[in-house]
Amino acid sequence: MLDINAIRADFPILNQKVNGKPLVYFDNAATAQKPKVVEKAIIEYYETINANIHRGVHTLSQLATDAYEESRKKIQHHVNAKSDKEIIFTAGTTFGINLVANGFSSFLKKGDEILISAMEHHSNIVPWQFACERSGASLKIIPMNEEGDLILEEFDKLINSNTKMVAVTHISNALGTVNPIKYIIDEAHKVGAAVLIDGAQATPHIKPDVQALDCDFYVFSGHKICGPTGTGILYGKEAWLDKLPPYQGGGEMIKTVTFEKTTYACLPHKFEAGTPNIAGGIVLGYAIDYLNGIGFDKIKAYEKDLLDYGTKKLLEIEGLKIYGTAKEKTSVISFNIQGLHPYDIGVIVDKLGVAVRTGHHCTQPIMDFYGIPGTVRASFSFYNTKEEIDILIEAVKKAKQMLS
Ligand code: PMP
Repeated sequence: MLDINAIRADFPILNQKVNGKPLVYFDNAATAQKPKVVEKAIIEYYETINANIHRGVHTLSQLATDAYEESRKKIQHHVNAKSDKEIIFTAGTTFGINLVANGFSSFLKKGDEILISAMEHHSNIVPWQFACERSGASLKIIPMNEEGDLILEEFDKLINSNTKMVAVTHISNALGTVNPIKYIIDEAHKVGAAVLIDGAQATPHIKPDVQALDCDFYVFSGHKICGPTGTGILYGKEAWLDKLPPYQGGGEMIKTVTFEKTTYACLPHKFEAGTPNIAGGIVLGYAIDYLNGIGFDKIKAYEKDLLDYGTKKLLEIEGLKIYGTAKEKTSVISFNIQGLHPYDIGVIVDKLGVAVRTGHHCTQPIMDFYGIPGTVRASFSFYNTKEEIDILIEAVKKAKQMLS
C-alpha cells in the first residue's frame, strides 16, 4: 500500500486553496506536480554545479557533464535500453516525434504508407502529415470502436508491405485506453515497418521495457512524470538512430566543420544540437528515482482503485456518459453530461477548487468520432485520494444543478 500522507507531504502545491477551496488537482494527464526532491534538485544544481557541459576542462563543467550523463544512464536503465547512446534528451514528446518524422521522411516515397491510429494526440498526427506532404507517402488510420479500443482486425487489413512506419500511442490521453502495442509492434515488424510508440501517457503509470517491446522508437515527456517542463526522451534503436539524419544543426552535434563539409558527432550527440536543458535533464533522473522509489506496481494498483471508485461514483450522476470504456485503461475519465457544455462544467468545478481539463484534449479526431465538441477529463495520479474524488462528484452535481 502507498503511504498517501507521506506522499502528499512531498507535493506542497497540493496543500493550498484555490478560489477559497482546497485544491483538488485532477489535470494530471496534462502535467504532473513535482515532488520536493525535484524542486530541491533544480535549486541545488544552480547553486552548486551550473556550467555548460561537454566542452569545458574546468571542474564545474566536468561535474555538470557527469551529472547529465549519469542521468542519461539512469534513464537508459529505467526503460531498459541496450545502450546510453540510444537515449536522446529532447524538449518533450512533441519534439521527439517531430525529430523522427522529419528524418524518416527522407526514407519515404510515393506509394509508401504511414499507419497511425484514430486516437492519436495531434503531436502524433501532424508531424506524419508533414512527412507525407514532403515525401508523397500516404497516411492510413487504424480505426477504433465505441468503447475506445483499436479495431485490430482493421489493423491486420491495413498493414502491408507498403507500410513503412507505424506510430501509435501506448495509452490514450483522452480515453485512457491501453493499446496492445506488443501485438502492433510484432505485426509491423513482419512487414518490415518501423514502429514509434508515443509513451507520453504511459510513462506516468508504467515502466516501459523497450527491449521486451522491441519498438524502434519510444518517446515521452519529463513533465508528465514529475520532472521539469521542457524535458523529454527519445529512445531509438542504435541502428535506426545511426541511419536517421540529424534534426537540428549547430554546436555539439558535429565532429568536424568546414565551409565545404560537416561530419556529425556520434550518438547520442548527433541529435543534441546546442546547449541542452542541462538542469532539466539532470533533474529528470531525480523524478524517475522518486517514482521508482514508490514503485510502479504500487502506483498502478493505487490508481486502478481510484479509477474504479471515480467511475462508479460518476456514473451515479444521471445523464453522465463516460467516453473510453476499454477493459484496459489508466486513471483517466472523460465524460459529458447530457445537454451541458464541458467548458461550463469545467468553469464551475474550478470555482469549487477542482482542476479538470475540458475541450478536445488535442485529439480532435476522437471528438469527431463521438460527434461531440469535447469532454470534461479528470485524470488521477498516485497522490490523489478518494476523498478528492468525492469533492469532484459534489462539484459536478452542483454544476449540473446550476446549468440545468
Ligand atoms: N502524446 C500524448 C498521448 C500526450 O498526452 C501528449 C501531451 N498531452 C503529447 C503527446 C505531447 O506531449 P508534450 O506536450 O509534452 O510534448
